[in-house]
Amino acid sequence: MSRIHKDLPYKDFDRPDGITEVAVCSKSGKLPIEGVCDSAGTVYTEYFARGSEPTEQCDHHTSVTLCAESGMIATPYCPETYESVYVDDSIGYCTIHDGTQHVEVTTTVTTTDTNTTNSTDTTNTTNTTNTTYNTTGD
Ligand SMILES: [Zn+2]
Ligand SMILES: [Zn+2]
Repeated sequence: MSRIHKDLPYKDFDRPDGITEVAVCSKSGKLPIEGVCDSAGTVYTEYFARGSEPTEQCDHHTSVTLCAESGMIATPYCPETYESVYVDDSIGYCTIHDGTQHVEVTTTVTTTDTNTTNSTDTTNTTNTTNTTYNTTGD
């Protein structure tokens, strides 16, 4: 009769005193930046001895301005940009708008046409309903 475990309450983790639960970024091991590290999906919960938990914010993920056209890091030449998360350094600077090559901007469309008045020339196509004559060959 040595069933000592019988009436023990189920505990999945008996956390000792002085252990603190902190969300950290797996890329840097530091505190995740809200909206940046979590959107990169690298945030997990780590247990630290009280006092040894990270106090600095993640230095791996930073918010960057990307070029809307190339999706790369925006240069001052990029016409349209948006804020995003800098996930890894494989993203280089925008190669489309790097300032070295002339960007062909086709804005002036030389129309030789005379100002066409808004004449809705809708050729009323006679709706030829395919009336199938049910020729009952009687
Ligand atoms: Zn991070
Ligand atoms: Zn660009």
